[in-house]
Amino acid sequence: MIALADCNNFYVSCERVFRPHLQNRPVIVLSNNDGCAVARSNEAKEIGVPMGAPFHQIKSLCQQNGVQVFSSNYELYGDMSGRVVSVLRRFAPELEVYSIDESFLDFSGISDPLGLSVRMRRTVGQWTGIPISVGLGSTKTLAKLANRLAKKMGSGCMQVDHGDLEALGRVAIEDVWGVGKRLAVRLRRVGAHDAWSLTQVPASVVRSIGGVTLERTWQELRGTPCLDLEEVPSARKNTCCSRSFGKPVTGLVELEEAVANYAVRAIRKVRAEGSLACGIQVFVMTNRFREDQAQYSNARALSLDEPTDDPIRVIRRAKELLRAIYRPGYSYKKAGIILLDLVSSNSQQGLLFEEFGDDRTRGFVDAVEEVAARYGTMGGFWGAQGMDHSWRMRREMRTPRYTTNWSEIPEFG
Ligand SMILES: [Mg+2]
Repeated sequence: MIALADCNNFYVSCERVFRPHLQNRPVIVLSNNDGCAVARSNEAKEIGVPMGAPFHQIKSLCQQNGVQVFSSNYELYGDMSGRVVSVLRRFAPELEVYSIDESFLDFSGISDPLGLSVRMRRTVGQWTGIPISVGLGSTKTLAKLANRLAKKMGSGCMQVDHGDLEALGRVAIEDVWGVGKRLAVRLRRVGAHDAWSLTQVPASVVRSIGGVTLERTWQELRGTPCLDLEEVPSARKNTCCSRSFGKPVTGLVELEEAVANYAVRAIRKVRAEGSLACGIQVFVMTNRFREDQAQYSNARALSLDEPTDDPIRVIRRAKELLRAIYRPGYSYKKAGIILLDLVSSNSQQGLLFEEFGDDRTRGFVDAVEEVAARYGTMGGFWGAQGMDHSWRMRREMRTPRYTTNWSEIPEFG
């Protein structure tokens, strides 16, 4: 038995934890730079705010209906996500964090999985303030489908067995996990309009439409597990950090500062997973939607002599790359860095003629990184990152980072 615990309207729920008066009121959260609606409360959905709608298109709709609008506060959401997962871990020894708001749990051998789900849902709600829905099934795909139905019917927890015609028949084909819009069109042509009718299509037809991937979904809907619980996320090959600027950036100094910040962010991700980067790519681009402005974009990469997780080396090389592609006279919209070909730090191979410089700075780098990890990004940072950060994203309606910053802790009275 597999359980899928999914936080309801997660970003909105995080905001509501610290602003309880927003319960039952329409709330939306916007993407980076206050671009599009990326999370909507049920009330906002009812008003007709579409998912992914650009904010400027829905601004008056929101004003007319008193919709509370927030900029995204990813630091808060990430921290709340960690809290939810730590509560979930008490209910099952094996757990896969699938996304920021979804986890699969191994419920096999549990005599009353539905009863346990109800308790888990209540505990997460009491301890974190985040409402979740739990779907149960003998495969991941069925658990996902059960979760969808639990949300739709407002029941909170639901179990779906593979032969359950009524439940499977209620989920449209394009809403089945692993079936996209494109595949759905082709499946409808062979009579598969919902999850149930998909299970009735012969395997050979399924394979001819969507290959082995769709066949796996088909098997899972019929109760045969094909997807394992992945407790350890597979190490990534590359890691990217890039952002759009809050205002156009023209000067090299500001760009260097931005790229240094992205480099540090990327290297911290890499260090956290125990990897080293073998190469670096830096890119810049102007705003291609501003047809009235001169356009330029460029990228350049280099491979490092030796795989590294040293921010000093990465910043230095990234700045070299940036200077090589920077052209004055353009308004840059975005810049970023990609750390290439990540390898495990256990398999590091030293350079035969490497000087001792790296060893001497090693302890210093580790100390700064440790301070930053413990006291936050302003507790320990590299000079190249600068202090001003005028290029940072727009987040005009962001709530305080209640749970991760002492200076932004909620106040009462
Ligand atoms: Mg969710």
